[in-house]
Amino acid sequence: MHAELIAVGDEILSGQTLDTNTQWLARRLAEVGLRTRFHTVVGDDLADCVVAFQRAIERADVVVSTGGLGPTADDLTRQALAEATGRELVLNEEALAHIRDIFARRRREMPEGNRLQALFPAGSRMIGNPSGTAPGILVDVSRPGRGACRVVALPGVPAEMVEMWHDSVAAAMRPFGHDRMVRYRRIKCFGAGESQIEAILPDLIRRDRVPRVGISAQQATIVLRIQAEGASEEECLAAMEPTVQTIYDYLGTLVFGEEDDDLQDVVLRLLHRRGDTLAVAEWGTAGLVGEWLGGSPALRDPFLGGVVATSQAARRRLLNIPSDEVPSNSHAECLVVEAMAAACRHRLGTDWGLAVGRFPPLDPRSAEPPPVWVALASEAGVERKAFSLASHPAILRAYCAKAALNMLRLALLP
Ligand code: AMP
Ligand code: MG
Repeated sequence: MHAELIAVGDEILSGQTLDTNTQWLARRLAEVGLRTRFHTVVGDDLADCVVAFQRAIERADVVVSTGGLGPTADDLTRQALAEATGRELVLNEEALAHIRDIFARRRREMPEGNRLQALFPAGSRMIGNPSGTAPGILVDVSRPGRGACRVVALPGVPAEMVEMWHDSVAAAMRPFGHDRMVRYRRIKCFGAGESQIEAILPDLIRRDRVPRVGISAQQATIVLRIQAEGASEEECLAAMEPTVQTIYDYLGTLVFGEEDDDLQDVVLRLLHRRGDTLAVAEWGTAGLVGEWLGGSPALRDPFLGGVVATSQAARRRLLNIPSDEVPSNSHAECLVVEAMAAACRHRLGTDWGLAVGRFPPLDPRSAEPPPVWVALASEAGVERKAFSLASHPAILRAYCAKAALNMLRLALLP
């Protein structure tokens, strides 16, 4: 069975509000075994909404819409759904009682306009909304010669929509879902580009392969997404296992983690396992490495803190680095970054000191992008590495922060 998602609202259509409801719902539908085939976005226009619902009912077995259930003149989903299914709008007493109750609980008079929210297409059912005035609507629309299409209209407010899904909508969708489920695994890599990684792997990205493997880059992190279908969670995971093993075998230390892992989480776990501590000093990344480490859901104890040293004054006064001027060449710059790594380690008495250098100005005449220096100080001395600023300017900060964390990760690997 197939699903279609409809987002209703001028704010979505015009790009002023990001349609996060559809993204969230598509994932939930997959969990109950429904494959989403279409996403539709439509403005607050009655005729357009009617067409959107009609078309969706024609080509999908389950339709879930969000938005347009409020009490104001631009909330047209009730009416559109009634017209699309050739039904009258009738007062739903249960819905009216619900709306009255919400106002009573908020100790407010119910405005007359809110009665509108209790008008439902004839023959539809109410979906309770514990936190808002807009109840949802469920209607099964019969189709000649085929099974009925189940339409669910939910309010646009994401928190209400989510609560209603878990309370009752998920259960109402299950009978339409497949017995077979789809599960995903994500393997995350850093240190090579998308096409390089594809080239290292043995023909895994082929479209007709089972299980299917997809590759995408997210701010210089390469994510391999494995998708398997099966009758149970265990069956899906078992079907993915050999592919996961192949990925690990071929990519080795390019793989840093799985699922929601980011480099900082992995680095913190490795530090914790060794009982080691870390300090950072950042110039170009201006605190991003520290922010990530400090905000990680992993054990944060190993990260003692650090310095954002974007000015000479900060480097001199906070890190005791005597240089008086911006380094004149890459070599001088490298020495400053090494000194930053050693100084933050020394000042905080940590096992590791990680420093990121400045982003040199990009010279459009030069063929070679300038390097960013990263230095790592430890008991064994200071090692350094130059990373070429070849990535898109929009992700430079993230790329350099990741390059630094990755250098530390590799040094921490057993
Ligand atoms: P509505 O139910 O159309 O009155 O929408 C109420 C509010 O929910 C809107 O003002 C938006 O901020 C939010 N909203 C509506 N649709 C979406 C959507 N598809 N994704 C994220 N937020 C939404
Ligand atoms: Mg709206």
